[in-house]
This record gives sequence, C-alpha cells and structure tokens, in this order.
Amino acid sequence: MDHIHIGGIHWEIDWMMVYMAFWMFLLGTVMGSFFDCIAVRRARKESVIKGRSHCDSCGHVLGLVEMVPLLGFLITKGKCRYCKAKIPRDAFFAELAGGVIFAGTMIHLDIDLYLPMWIVFGALLLLISLIDYNQRVIPNVLLIILAANRILAHFIIARDPWTGIPKMLLNAGSVSVPLLILVLIMDRLLKKETMGGGDIKLLFVIGLYMDWKQMILILFFACVLGIAGTLVIQRKKRGQASSDWGQIPFGPYIAASAVLVFWFGQPLIDWYLSLFRIL
Ligand SMILES: [Zn+2]
Repeated sequence: MDHIHIGGIHWEIDWMMVYMAFWMFLLGTVMGSFFDCIAVRRARKESVIKGRSHCDSCGHVLGLVEMVPLLGFLITKGKCRYCKAKIPRDAFFAELAGGVIFAGTMIHLDIDLYLPMWIVFGALLLLISLIDYNQRVIPNVLLIILAANRILAHFIIARDPWTGIPKMLLNAGSVSVPLLILVLIMDRLLKKETMGGGDIKLLFVIGLYMDWKQMILILFFACVLGIAGTLVIQRKKRGQASSDWGQIPFGPYIAASAVLVFWFGQPLIDWYLSLFRIL
C-alpha cells in the first residue's frame, strides 16, 4: 500500500490490485476479441476455428498489429490498411467491454473464492450479448453453461450446499416466472410475441447468482437501458421506420444490467429499503 498526496487529497494505492486489474483487463480484451469473432462467424455460418481474420472488402488477412485488441483498431483508425474500407466498430467495443468486465469484477471482489465464478459469469454474459446482438437468439447451451458455472462453484465452495439450493431456485424464479406469466398473457392479448423466451430464460439463470431484490433492479435497469438504447438506434436510422419493438435483442441490456447491479446494486438497494424504515 502506497500513500501519496495529489492536490491535497490523500490517495492510497494498492499496487497489487492495480497489477491484477491490469492483467485482467488485458485478458478481458483478448476474450472480447475472441467472443466477437465467434459471434460474427456464427452469424455468417463460418467456422470459428478455421480461417484467419480478414478484411471483408478486399480479403486482406489481418496482420499481427491489427489483431492486437483495442490498439489494432486505434492504430489503423478503424480502416483496412490496404483498401481503406471501414472496419466495423463492434470488435473494438467487444474488446473494451471484455476488459472492463474482467478488471471491474477483479476490483469489486478483490481476492475471493468466488472470483473465478464471477469472471466466467461476466465472460458468458458478454458472449451471450454478442450472439444475441448479431443473431437475435440466445443459445440454450450457453444458458446451461452459465447455470452449471453457478451450481458447480456453489457445490465446491459452500459449506452445506444442499440447504442453499431451494433459496437459489426461488431467487431464480423471482422475476422470471411472474414475467413469463405476464408475457404469456400479453402474447394472447396482442396476438404476437412480446418478449423472446431466451430473455426470460436468461433472467432465470442470472437469478441463480442474485437475490430477488437484485433481480428486480436488473429488470428495471434492463428496461431503462433497453428503451434508451432503442430510441438512440431508431433515431440513427430514421429512414427505415421499422418501429417493431418485438425485434429488439433484449439480451445485451439484461446482461449489462446484471453486471452493473452486481457491482453497484447493493448501495442502491440499501438506500431504497432505508426509505421504508423511516416511514
Ligand atoms: Zn480491405
């Protein structure tokens, strides 16, 4: 621990944490890059392992520098070095998100037995978001892996794992089951699909990691982010006035909310509950 003074403020720097967070950030960017590659190639029905990454316009195979997460995009200014075609920004944002998720989870938990579980949680949510964004589908196999990651860590780490299972299932169903019922009624009334089944399944699996208060907050944030995001996207492509709200991939918003609530939710929940204690 180092103590320094900058501008009259006393700073305590945990260099070990800075070191760990730095490497976690780098690891996260590499994972983000890999996940974006999986999501894009999956959408195009290409092989994930075979074939080098290449420019979509001229077919030029990407060099080593261009493959470096974040920096590759910044150095080439988002353009192919050969044909100057624009390279999609998605990969850059996926890499950034991966870095922030990995480093943020490290900083939030510090050294903790559950750190690997939460890193895998964040990583899988990023992959699910990228696939949902590209293809508007959440693969069941990823939801099963996400659930297995939680159950496995629970049985390895918890002292008396079986007693925790009913509570875990109740939390999982706390938001997802009422929402499922609501969506089924809405579908009947409106005679169209109002929310994808994948989103509800995703909320169920995230609920294995959270308590019901966190789940309500996640749903709330996901709705706020989803509406804000959709308005921004619709404003961008005004000409194509397809205001089909049923077509929004909701998964990325749910995933982002889950990570935000995991990091920052507790103070908010404590504050909200304290309002009722005053009354
Ligand atoms: Zn090119």
